[in-house]
Amino acid sequence: MAIYFPEEKLTEIRNTANISDIISERVVLKKAGKDLVGLCPFHSEKTPSFTVSPAKQIFHCFGCGAGGNVFSFLMKYDGIGFVEAVQSLARRYGIQLPSSEMTPAQKKIVSERDRLFDLNKQIMMFYKEQLSDRSIGKTGREYLEKRGFNQEIIDQFSLGFAPDGWDSLIGFFRKIKTSQALAEKTGLIIPKKNKGFYDRFRNRIMFPIYDVTNQIIGFGGRVLDDSKPKYLNSPETIIYNKSRSLYGVQAAKEKARETGHIYIVEGYFDLLALQQHGIKNSVATLGTSLTPDHVRMLKRGFAQKSFLVFDSDDAGLKAAHRSISIFMNEGMDAAVIVLPKGYDPDSYIFKNGRDAFLQASEKAFSMMEFLVETAVKIHGLSMEGKVRIISDLKEPLSQINDAVAKSIYIKYLAERLNIDETAIFEKIKSVKQNQPAGRFKQNQECVSSESEGPSISSEMLRFEKQIISMMLQFPEILPEIENKRVLDYFIDKRLVAIGHLIVEVPPPRAGDVAGLMNRLDSVELQKMIASLVITDEAWDRDNCEKLLAQFINSRQRRENSLLSQIKAAEESKDETLLFSLLKKKQEQLINR
Ligand SMILES: [Zn+2]
Repeated sequence: MAIYFPEEKLTEIRNTANISDIISERVVLKKAGKDLVGLCPFHSEKTPSFTVSPAKQIFHCFGCGAGGNVFSFLMKYDGIGFVEAVQSLARRYGIQLPSSEMTPAQKKIVSERDRLFDLNKQIMMFYKEQLSDRSIGKTGREYLEKRGFNQEIIDQFSLGFAPDGWDSLIGFFRKIKTSQALAEKTGLIIPKKNKGFYDRFRNRIMFPIYDVTNQIIGFGGRVLDDSKPKYLNSPETIIYNKSRSLYGVQAAKEKARETGHIYIVEGYFDLLALQQHGIKNSVATLGTSLTPDHVRMLKRGFAQKSFLVFDSDDAGLKAAHRSISIFMNEGMDAAVIVLPKGYDPDSYIFKNGRDAFLQASEKAFSMMEFLVETAVKIHGLSMEGKVRIISDLKEPLSQINDAVAKSIYIKYLAERLNIDETAIFEKIKSVKQNQPAGRFKQNQECVSSESEGPSISSEMLRFEKQIISMMLQFPEILPEIENKRVLDYFIDKRLVAIGHLIVEVPPPRAGDVAGLMNRLDSVELQKMIASLVITDEAWDRDNCEKLLAQFINSRQRRENSLLSQIKAAEESKDETLLFSLLKKKQEQLINR
């Protein structure tokens, strides 16, 4: 990994880019002693087990075992490679990376994402200029004005205009001398059948789409009349992943964290309308339906509760239905605001104002109320209708993990339908039995299966982990580890590997665990190290030596007891037992 960049550079970046700053842009963290904790972005959980140590510059999740330094976090969270993670931090903090040591292929990966971010910014400026151009932007400006948007919101969201014509953007690319290859990568130009390209967006209002760190990742465009498609988004690129992007996150973040809740609308103009009326904690899903990634991102990074403000037409209700099961699965509280028929959030707030909108949100349906009421509307309350309603709702009900919430919902449903609660319980149970184990359970299994084989006693493993933790945080003990050949006694092979690495190349500074991680190719080993040093143990010479003595003692005791068991098995002529004991002994010898 580290071969691409000199170690000093990586250290410089790590020292400049504080891990808690980088992570808190994406995850809400609260102080807990010396550490910071939050809801893990990598697995579903209700109580925070995701821990960031500013002192050690590492993170570790006690729930799913994820862990590492600032680079590993970005790699996992943004789904990028090591090189890109280093580059993105270097760029952000203005640290120059020497490119001479990279191969051409590596240089290409490093620069492509950056060049796209830069180019998108230039494109945004280009579209903006078109919108303010007296003649070219006239229709666009008039359209925005007619819809009631003021200059402040247009500027804040950097709205622009794609002129009517097939090669405006292509002309701009030519003017700023963008390479053909890079221009294509933006997804904003489309190859013609025979030769050349044409602009994807023509005669449209342009909306740059930002990520949470304020970089432009893509664009959306809306026509000025009723022609189709009404909305168009740029295709996914190496920097634009639709299932992880929400329109307006950059503007919503602060207010959402402050209030603890966030409004989710469907369209660009819905979002801008809310923003213009001072509802700053709002984002839009951009025509794609809400994904589990979206919900996880909101829950970890923004707010505890979402308000879904979808159109009150059938499509909107369907979208709300689909989203609710995602919220239930991800364990995020949500409510549905149902606007009067014929309104969308945009038209509603322009007509009735901010206060009316806030009042409507006070009357929002809880997820379950919404599901029940729409089902009642569809099926009615006849005997047959009730059966259908329960059959519609047993699936989402069975997905609720919180027992209290579940029984409240069931009670609500039972009262609404005027039937016995136990009947509903029975129905739900039948769903549960037919389902595979939930996500969280799978994660836990994954954690335990990775930690040890059956032949290693948990006591020895605990010792070995403690010793590695000690070696990482009290490097003065390393000579003694070597002298006593402590690692030769280890059973867990991964811990042996980490141990040798520490002995061979001790951390640059005492306790610089984050630095050591850069030398590890394996995410598994990084995770393991993070889990070992996140503890609060303070090491000094005294307790280090005590631990070593205990470890060696215990190891010898085990060997002795194994020897006496073998002797006993020989005497009693229990061949199966003897065989298994001899095998154990052999394993020990191999591991030495
Ligand atoms: Zn986790």
